[in-house]
Amino acid sequence: RDKGSPQLLPTLKQYFGFSSFRPLQEEIILDTLAGKDVFALLPTGGGKSLCFQLPALVRPGLTVVISPLIALMKDQVDALTASGAPATFLNSSLEAGESTPRLRGLHKGEFRLLYVAPERLMLSGFLEDLRRWNVNLFAIDEAHCVSEWGHDFRPEYRAISKLRELFPEVPFMALTATATERVREDIIRALSLREPQIFVASFNRPNLTYRVHAKSGAYEQTLSFIRARPRESGIVYCHSRKTAESVAQKLNEDGVSARPYHAGLPGEERSRNQELFLRDEVRVVCATIAFGMGINKPNVRFVIHYDLPKNVEGYYQETGRAGRDGLPSECLLLFSPGDVVKQTGFINEKTDPHEQQLAREQLQQMVHYAEIASCRRASLLDYFGEEFPVANCEACDNCLSPRDTFDGTLVAQKFLSC
Ligand code: ADP
Ligand code: MG
Repeated sequence: RDKGSPQLLPTLKQYFGFSSFRPLQEEIILDTLAGKDVFALLPTGGGKSLCFQLPALVRPGLTVVISPLIALMKDQVDALTASGAPATFLNSSLEAGESTPRLRGLHKGEFRLLYVAPERLMLSGFLEDLRRWNVNLFAIDEAHCVSEWGHDFRPEYRAISKLRELFPEVPFMALTATATERVREDIIRALSLREPQIFVASFNRPNLTYRVHAKSGAYEQTLSFIRARPRESGIVYCHSRKTAESVAQKLNEDGVSARPYHAGLPGEERSRNQELFLRDEVRVVCATIAFGMGINKPNVRFVIHYDLPKNVEGYYQETGRAGRDGLPSECLLLFSPGDVVKQTGFINEKTDPHEQQLAREQLQQMVHYAEIASCRRASLLDYFGEEFPVANCEACDNCLSPRDTFDGTLVAQKFLSC
């Protein structure tokens, strides 16, 4: 290792309390400290935050973190501040009066980390401010948001490319857990990364078991699954807000403490429900896809997909919220051809033909996963361009009990082909 590289382990211990790095963290950190552009593809829970937080603490200057997760910035900054790391954030949740002291601190060079939402890059004056702050790294978290091939496209992310023109000398670090080749290429191009060092960790989650059941009475299936695991907490992903509400309500009536979570709830109720779940005061959250990005609850033991997800990325991310502590956890997808019909209907309502085509392809891949008779893990990993060279994963329904093809196959395929 380079003699010149700073001592990372003491800093890791001092600020984060860890004695060793997770896979690829150290390599990523050393390359970014060497001034290279870095593209880091680590699964959810892989420890991406540390990859930009630690370099920020071993040298002077300001690391700017761009993240779409306004709701989580405060938590992250509070955690950093509590361990003595000078960090702050600027976003639309702050009152004008609250930004002023932060800006003053930034002008005085008091902070090492600044979290901002991408919208901030468009505000007049902000880019000029950035120029005065001795920025040493732009870390773009959830970088897949720049790609419309990802599962969470945010048009504001396109504004990031302006930074490259304005700060040609400052290295970029793009981080994501979304791994398809297409999204990867999109990110590198849209952020104008320069000969980036690319780090890809394995996406296999060996502690997760994957199952797909034919959907027939989804609520009863969900209830009996949860009842069979009386002390465990989990997430039930539903397609619509209405379903999320009604499943939560029925679960409560059936003696399982549950709360809904979706973007239609008042902010206060949403954060309360999330809190209750994080603190293990309710066992189940019935949610739309609005729930989850960046949420770090280690002991989620199961994730049930009550309805068919729109695409494999989304499915992988959502199931990935189970078992972050590494303990065995289960993922159950309830699949019916009726859901394919429903989704196809939504797709047909789209007006942009390009979007329509995209959505159709993504749905096709999702259906393929649901219907496959071979290893689900291998299929998921293959989707992300990763080979799984083991014949039997021993933790998916198809490997645990091999079977003939799924009944719904032909029906679903028929709908998809029109
Ligand atoms: P990601 O953004 O990749 O989903 P996070 O950065 O949120 O992951 O980290 C996930 C969890 O892993 C956090 O609780 C974090 O404290 C922990 N973690 C990160 N790096 C290490 C490490 N080197 N040793 C132990 N735990 C770590
Ligand atoms: Mg993260």
